[in-house]
Amino acid sequence: MALIETEALVLRSYNLSDADKIVIFMTENSGLIRGVAKGAKRLRSKFGGSLETLTIVSLTYFQKEDRELVSVREIEMKKSYLASTSDIHFLQKFSYLSELLIEFSPPHDPNQRLYNMAKICLQTASDNYRFLDAISLYFELWVLRLGGFLPVWSNCYQCQKEFSNDIFVNLQMDFQVVCHQCQNIRRNSLITPEQRFIFSVAQKVSPQKFVELTADHKESLTDLSLILKRIIARVLDKKENTQKGLIINYPPKI
Ligand SMILES: [Zn+2]
Repeated sequence: MALIETEALVLRSYNLSDADKIVIFMTENSGLIRGVAKGAKRLRSKFGGSLETLTIVSLTYFQKEDRELVSVREIEMKKSYLASTSDIHFLQKFSYLSELLIEFSPPHDPNQRLYNMAKICLQTASDNYRFLDAISLYFELWVLRLGGFLPVWSNCYQCQKEFSNDIFVNLQMDFQVVCHQCQNIRRNSLITPEQRFIFSVAQKVSPQKFVELTADHKESLTDLSLILKRIIARVLDKKENTQKGLIINYPPKI
């Protein structure tokens, strides 16, 4: 049995029994973990307010070999976002983003970049609610990128030619993009230069810089976010089918 200490972000909790809760954490050093917090529902719980959603904590837990569920030993609050989460839009947005973290993070698989990205996005959005939508897009894009699901939009998927900054390109069913030499313009699936700019800049700068650089591109932010949501839906759909065993053996071996 190992005792592990790490910083963590509280994503969600739910009741296990009259006194205990199960808490889902995104940790700095151990990835996503689910832990039993004994006595957390009691009035004078030693955990106090540190199990509130979106609190940054110092977490100590026991982990038994071959057990996914860990035992929460100690929690110390490092940073509370209670003031922000009392805003319904903020809470809704980050509840959705927390779900993305849960869906895209295999349990106990350390991903420090993902943790740091989530933490800094939370701070940036909390500093200014006006940037919630831009931060949400940044978050979606990085969850996809760190999971290896983000397409490359800097060059044509077919001929590999690099795009100049000012051209429109065609979006394919698999979310790759191709140039007009490879495919005639299709009006209903065009990616604009502005959308590609946002897509590119999000991968190069901090969340704070990103919200500054894209402040005047509200419409394109919305359109791009919709495309990212479609990619996310496709990834999660495939994952669910794989878990059901439907496509594990597909295509069939000849
Ligand atoms: Zn091409």
